[in-house]
Amino acid sequence: MADSNGKRDHFIGVDLGGTKILAGVFTPQLKCLGKVKMSTKPERGPEGVLERVTRCVQEAVDECDLTFDNIKAVGIGAPGAVDPEEGRIIFAPNLKWEDVPLKRVLEKQLGLPVFAENDCNACALGVYETELDPKPRSMVGIFLGTGIGGGIVLDGKPYSGFNRTAGEIGHMILEVNGPKCGCGNKGCFEALASRTALFRKIQTAVKDGQKTVLTDMLGPDLTDMKSGDLRKALRRGDKFVEKVIEEAAEYTGIAVANVINLLNPEVIVLGGGVMDQLADEMMSIIIETARDYALTGTIKGIEIIASKLGDDAGITGAAVLAKRESK
Ligand SMILES: [Zn+2]
Repeated sequence: MADSNGKRDHFIGVDLGGTKILAGVFTPQLKCLGKVKMSTKPERGPEGVLERVTRCVQEAVDECDLTFDNIKAVGIGAPGAVDPEEGRIIFAPNLKWEDVPLKRVLEKQLGLPVFAENDCNACALGVYETELDPKPRSMVGIFLGTGIGGGIVLDGKPYSGFNRTAGEIGHMILEVNGPKCGCGNKGCFEALASRTALFRKIQTAVKDGQKTVLTDMLGPDLTDMKSGDLRKALRRGDKFVEKVIEEAAEYTGIAVANVINLLNPEVIVLGGGVMDQLADEMMSIIIETARDYALTGTIKGIEIIASKLGDDAGITGAAVLAKRESK
């Protein structure tokens, strides 16, 4: 199937998340040949999880009818504070990990060079390298999914800050007395506009008697609700869902304005599972709100666009990292 010519010129991109591991095999031109998904099983601890990462990589390579002899390097995007020079997770609250030598362990298990980066920085790098042409000097990626993450690319390189925690856009506080966030604060962007926040808002309203076509589609408990269901509800003219999405888009626009005021990047890209499904409905509101809130003159000429990579941003960016670092 894959025409590898027996060359060691392919790359692996791994997206290590709190619930799933995704591994993709990429050509030298960064085209994805195939990918494999596995559950993370964080309760097994770093050792158990990294064994699963290795297995996921092996399966992805096998799935593409390649062998490790065709692979030049592996990139991995991991949650939390990651030290890219040492390839070490400093701390990752959602995995409850501290000081995990990701690069060392995986290089030993895989027998291939491994490079690590924060997951959201990897996503931003994936967008930067495969979706932007010409390349801007600076870019910020905002990724709306289960949580909300941000990645910063300055002068073409991921920027991770003093404690390797830059880009925590999801915990930018947008409502001082807003809903509680997983981090312990109140009113974080993530607690207002992530998929988790939207679903919780909808479920609470339905319990309080709110009518919506979502209950016709999914049953009274709204089990297994997905971002795509919200899109379907909008297409069916559901006013309640429309209002929920509008509010989320407004919060996102305010976050974008804050990013513009702080960093003034040339391009802001919105991605992640929520945008993948709802970009058509949300983008115009996001841009309009950002214009309203950004300081006069700061937003001029800045591009605010939606990524088309969806859930593949992480593996793509990790493959970009592998390609860049193994040169
Ligand atoms: Zn928070």
